[in-house]
Amino acid sequence: MTITTRFAPSPTGSLHVGNVRTALHNWLWARKHGGRFLLRIDDTDLERSKEEYVDAIRADLAWLGLDVDGEERQSARFALYEAEFAKLQAAGRVYACYETSEELDIRRKVLLSRGLPPVYERKPEGAPVPAGVAPHWRFRLDHDAPILWTDMVRGPQHFEPKTMSDPVVRRADGSWLYLLLSVIDDIAMGISHVVRGEDHVSNTAAQIQMFEALRAEPPIFAHEALLVGTEGKLSKRLGSLGMASLREAGIEPIALVALLARLGTSDPVEPVTDTALLVEGIDFGRFGRAPARFDEAELALLNQKILHQTDHAAVADRLPAAITPARWNAIRPNLATVAEAADWVQVFDGPLAPPAADEADRAVIAAAAAAAPAIDWGSDPWHALTNAVKAGTGAKGRALFLPLRRALTGRDHGPDMAELLPLIAKEQAVARLAVD
Ligand code: GLU
Repeated sequence: MTITTRFAPSPTGSLHVGNVRTALHNWLWARKHGGRFLLRIDDTDLERSKEEYVDAIRADLAWLGLDVDGEERQSARFALYEAEFAKLQAAGRVYACYETSEELDIRRKVLLSRGLPPVYERKPEGAPVPAGVAPHWRFRLDHDAPILWTDMVRGPQHFEPKTMSDPVVRRADGSWLYLLLSVIDDIAMGISHVVRGEDHVSNTAAQIQMFEALRAEPPIFAHEALLVGTEGKLSKRLGSLGMASLREAGIEPIALVALLARLGTSDPVEPVTDTALLVEGIDFGRFGRAPARFDEAELALLNQKILHQTDHAAVADRLPAAITPARWNAIRPNLATVAEAADWVQVFDGPLAPPAADEADRAVIAAAAAAAPAIDWGSDPWHALTNAVKAGTGAKGRALFLPLRRALTGRDHGPDMAELLPLIAKEQAVARLAVD
């Protein structure tokens, strides 16, 4: 069996971290098994679907490195839907309904007031059909067949179709609801695994009977617990947190991928620089049932950890030319984002304004200025410099290192000076020390 998964967003908005997580798990699963990962654009809502969102979805997936093996659009598949619908109609598995939404509402309330579950009541065979009303269509659940499946995340699932309403699959104006179309597509595209949020569990129960009614084996399902914010529910902010804002905040795609791959699972989040380990490790059996908590601060920290291991080659196209591989290696432990690397160009190549120094510091700097010209910059100039100053002034520890760091870099903090100083040209360093 070829493993085939799909990510099926509706292009009615941009992707947020919750959808991206679903896309990622589908992608990881397909890649782990050498299978296919499809992008299915659920654009049957012609009014709300926008081409710009389709483009944004493609761009976001590409940015994240989730390459797709094919793209399908539901809006191009109406002929297939008609044909499959006709088969179900002929088999009596879809039927026309004439109730208005007001009528349905009243019936629901009556049932609830009697303490009964608000399940749709089918009209008896031969009930009168109102004239001049276009029907909507429901799928007839088979009440005699309990619905069973083994979910990769949730384990054995059991639904009694008698307790479920026959789902509406087509509106009176002929437009389609998602439920049946998704089944028709999953069959046509040979989807072997459906990975999606647990908000779809009851849809799955109805869809399993649709697969059977269309004489297809249902795929294997994995319903993952939802993503929530640190405050415990899917906040508005998280629900709208798009890739553009993360990109602007300097988040690397691999950091988001590394976090979302493992969040809510019993595997630790690891600062990986590529997806190999995540692909190898994806295991729905290790996904928890409790909501996964997404914390932007955790993402920022992970981003930082990943940057500290990221090679120059991987980010070179986003770095100023002055940030050479050696300079990158020196500064990366101090970076929270790649963009911050640009701030270090001045530290390496100037110009730097000499920082104010008190008398004791000035003595240290003067001693360094005197020693620097004779130092061989090619072999560990920092130790040569500090040894000379220590010998000349008796300064040591912080009183020795801090004034020199300040004079040479204009900053109180930064990378190891032994690594940094050889990357500042000797003339620059000598000039920075010669302040008085
Ligand atoms: N378009 C549906 C949604 O975004 C797809 C759900 C599914 O994966 O089947 O909810």
